[in-house]
Amino acid sequence: LQSQREHLALIRYNPQFRSSILERHQLMQGLNNAIDQGHVLLMFQPKVRLDDGSIVGVEALARWREPDGSYVPPSKFVPVAEMSGLINKLDLYVMQLTVAAIKQLLDAGFPLPVSFNVTSSDLDDLFFMASLDQICQENPQISQWLEIEITESQTMQDYQHVRPLLQNLINKGIGVSIDDFGTGYSSLQHITELSATELKIDKTFVDAMERDKSGEAIVDMVIKLGQRFNYSVIAEGIEKPAQVQKLSALGCEFGQGFWFAKPMELKDLLAYLKNRTKGTDERDI
Ligand code: C2E
Ligand code: MG
Ligand code: MG
Ligand code: MG
Repeated sequence: LQSQREHLALIRYNPQFRSSILERHQLMQGLNNAIDQGHVLLMFQPKVRLDDGSIVGVEALARWREPDGSYVPPSKFVPVAEMSGLINKLDLYVMQLTVAAIKQLLDAGFPLPVSFNVTSSDLDDLFFMASLDQICQENPQISQWLEIEITESQTMQDYQHVRPLLQNLINKGIGVSIDDFGTGYSSLQHITELSATELKIDKTFVDAMERDKSGEAIVDMVIKLGQRFNYSVIAEGIEKPAQVQKLSALGCEFGQGFWFAKPMELKDLLAYLKNRTKGTDERDI
């Protein structure tokens, strides 16, 4: 009790601590309003086949646009939203926007898997899961293009609990991508047990690959492990052609990064896709 009192006193009298609580509170209120007012939107980043640059899918990334046109980055609002229940509301909204985007892509003649990022608590959120079920039942032709990304750390942190939840998604035909792979502490055994569809090699290893032997060894091992267990292996954060060459040489099939394309609005993605098909048609003639 004594220590609790001391703790409260600390909160009350430490101006720095108070302001950080206040700041978080304001950020949460701001994000909540932004979702309600449609100020949260998605940007889409292509996933490409490394050997020919063809687009094999897209990742939807949340953006919070302020009325003045500036953006609050996910690195600022996602961690804070994760400390409150607001992340589930955000991710549900992102899922709805992702489904709408899949519809538009299909209408435009581009059947592509579209992934969105989830947090492990989404999988325990009854409203989130019920909405996902409803989407799958109402739009079977759409849910087959839907994919979730969950980080390796969140998957492994509570593996026995998360594994059947992921399996449940896979049974519904939803793709499961293990994000930021290599940064968590996973057991190799667990990786071989999961029936996820994709492994995403974290950007830190793509960067380290050029610098040192250990970076390259890790990338090489993840690629081999992934292929051995039928994951499609994708490297994220590719910024240079030398990285494309190195990854290809190691047998990595897919990549994502600013070198290929930055995240873009749906209308720009559609234009980008149309432009590329036109390019191929012309080359074919
Ligand atoms: P992530 O899922 O690993 O997404 C990759 C991040 O790397 C994105 O940052 C993307 O814009 C960035 N990126 C892609 N290519 C490059 C590159 O070549 N160089 C560099 N420097 N960066 C690149 P973003 O959009 O800021 O998202 C950051 C993280 O926030 C995401 O990491 C994801 O974990 C989280 N996030 C984003 N949207 C959502 C969401 O709707 N829900 C949840 N729960 N998390 C989200
Ligand atoms: Mg991701
Ligand atoms: Mg990632
Ligand atoms: Mg990441």
